Parts: sequence; structure tokens; C-alpha cells
Amino acid sequence: MVKWLERQRNPNSHHICTIEKVIDETPTVRTLIFSDEILSNVLPGQFAMVWIPGVNELPMSVMITQEKNKAAFTVRKRGEPSTAMYNLTVGDYIGVRGPYGNSFDIKNGKLLLVGGGTGLVPLLRLITFCKPSHDITLLMGSQTKKEVFFEDLANKLLKKNKHQVITVTEDGTYGKKGFVTDVLEELFTKNSFDAIYTCGPELMMYKIVKLATSNQIFVQASLERMMKCGIGICGSWYLWELLY
Ligand SMILES: Cc1cc2nc3c(=O)[nH]c(=O)nc-3n(C[C@H](O)[C@H](O)[C@H](O)COP(=O)(O)OP(=O)(O)OC[C@H]3O[C@@H](n4cnc5c(N)ncnc54)[C@H](O)[C@@H]3O)c2cc1C
Repeated sequence: MVKWLERQRNPNSHHICTIEKVIDETPTVRTLIFSDEILSNVLPGQFAMVWIPGVNELPMSVMITQEKNKAAFTVRKRGEPSTAMYNLTVGDYIGVRGPYGNSFDIKNGKLLLVGGGTGLVPLLRLITFCKPSHDITLLMGSQTKKEVFFEDLANKLLKKNKHQVITVTEDGTYGKKGFVTDVLEELFTKNSFDAIYTCGPELMMYKIVKLATSNQIFVQASLERMMKCGIGICGSWYLWELLY
């Protein structure tokens, strides 16, 4: 069915969707849910270009939902376009094109997922593609307690796996105190991992890739770079991979 729909729809033209549900995740983050069979089935790491009518177009990772054929975006209000998207309500329209981008290469064994803020979106989708045999550690970083989100959802998605979800806040108001990269160094002293996947602030990912490569661990980082076309023409690039 998805293949048939893909043939009917030009991925480079906007497909108009209606916002059906809005979930407040934190005081600055909202999830907008809409019906779209193609986007509901994207691979972990893929994204869509989202047109906010009258404002701008932004790249967004596609969030998982609990309902069949529904897709979502989880947006943090930052500048004008993301704030306009955050302020959309039920019944408002968005234009989506895509999906674009590569997907994570999921290795067997013990996986470490490290997400900061809305960088958790592609990592939660990655979890839904894992097998029950995967042993998964999820490190979730936020600035402060009220900005922690998706912890319950992550635990629910991981219930069939051997797993641990570790929350880290910069001010220590919830979970461990500090940056996820500090906790990562601590984790490496007691654990070994077969692969690491990360998405979030670029400096965080830079440190994670450095730590992973110095420990000779396979690592993939999903970059949230400025992009306009979604297909590589504008000179941006999306997924970068280091294999050791
Ligand atoms: C693959 C990918 C996935 C992403 N997934 C998410 C997600 O799930 N949730 C989320 O909240 N954010 C995500 N982002 C970041 C998001 O696209 C915006 O960069 C972010 O929301 C800030 O947008 P802003 O315009 O409000 O910021 P501002 O700092 O105000 O941006 C200034 C101007 O730059 C332009 N601009 C900003 N960001 C981009 C961009 N990435 N590409 C092109 N032009 C841009 C806009 O025209 C804007 O007017 C993702 C980015 C990428 C590349």
C-alpha cells in the first residue's frame, strides 16, 4: 500500500495535511499529529520538509505515533518559523514533502542511543526498528527537569528489550547532573557497546563521535543542518558516518 501511495505522490511537491492533535511535551516543545501513511512509515533518520503557510519551510524528523497511518512532528519553538509551527492548532494546515535522507544502519548487540532535546525523535523511531535481542541504553539530555520529555514513551517502547533509560539534566534538577557526554565517559568505564547512534546539538554529537572513534565503536550521527531543498542540491548534507 505504501509503495502504491509513493507512486501516486510526488515526494518533491507539498502534500497538504491537517493537524489533528497537539500534545504539549514541555513548555517549549509540542508534537503535532496528522494523517499521512507514507510519513508514518519512514525509516529511522529520515525527515520531511514542512511548509508552514505564509511563514517558511523547515526540515523536521518524523516522529512516531501510537496510531496507524498517523505521523507527527515534535517541534521546539526557537526562531520565527519554528515558533509559528509550534503555535499551529487542530484544524490548521501544513505542507509536507519527502521523506528525504538516509537511515541509520542498525547493528546487532548492545546499542547506545544518545539524544539531546528534539534529537530524540529519530532515535525513538530507531528503537521501533530494533529486535527484542538488542540490549539498548538510551541517554537523554535536557537543560532542566521541565524540559525532559519522551522518558515514559522510551521506557514503554523498550519494555521487551534489556534496557536502561538514563536522563541527564545540565542543572541536576532531574536524573544525573551534567552533560550527556560526561555520563557517556562514565558509561564507557563499565560497559562496551557495539554501536552508538546520536542526534542533538552538534557540539554534543562531535564529542560523542570523538569518544566513540577513540574507543573504536561504530557510530552514526544524524545532523540537523540548515537546508532548503532536502535533496542535496542546496549543498547541505545530512547523515555522516564513521566506521571503525
Ligand atoms: C534533518 C533535520 C531534522 C530536524 N528535526 C527537527 C525536529 O524534529 N524538531 C525540531 O524542533 N527541529 C528540528 N530540526 C531543526 C529545524 O529544522 C530548525 O532548524 C529549527 O527548528 C530552528 O528553526 P527557526 O527557523 O525557528 O530558527 P532560527 O534560528 O530563527 O532560523 C533563522 C532562519 O534560518 C532559516 N532556517 C532555520 N533552520 C533552518 C534549517 N534547518 N534549514 C534551512 N533553513 C533554516 C529560517 O529561514 C529562519 O528564518 C531539524 C533539522 C534538520 C536539518
